[in-house]
Amino acid sequence: MRDPDCIFCKIVAGELPAEMVYQDEQVSAFRDIHPKAPIHILIVPNRHIPSTSELSLEDDALAGRLLTVVPGIVEAEGIAQRGYRLIANAGSDGRQEVFHLHIHLLGGQPMRHSLG
Ligand code: AMP
Repeated sequence: MRDPDCIFCKIVAGELPAEMVYQDEQVSAFRDIHPKAPIHILIVPNRHIPSTSELSLEDDALAGRLLTVVPGIVEAEGIAQRGYRLIANAGSDGRQEVFHLHIHLLGGQPMRHSLG
């Protein structure tokens, strides 16, 4: 299931360029095109799901996979010990811009204290 107009669906399918750092049959992770930190990676489901609001209980395994790939990625990026931040924006108040669920993985520098 993909949305023909979705840029992240196109990246997952290899139809748009991106620096892929991880990919399996369920999820993909690639570098953000406008990084907000020295390391800025987006972790996305391969299937088109607009945001966390559209996850269902049938997505338990997929939702888990979005997080369980993190240790391998942060180990490869060399930030497992220093730490990092994970953020999932949803909807207009969440300032979501791309409506294909994604988790931002930010690291390589101390994050700001503010989350709002
Ligand atoms: P959000 O505001 O949570 O929807 O974040 C969307 C993110 O996608 C932003 O950080 C953008 O810089 C990033 N982005 C948009 N287009 C691309 C692209 N073609 N490749 C990689 N990252 C992208």
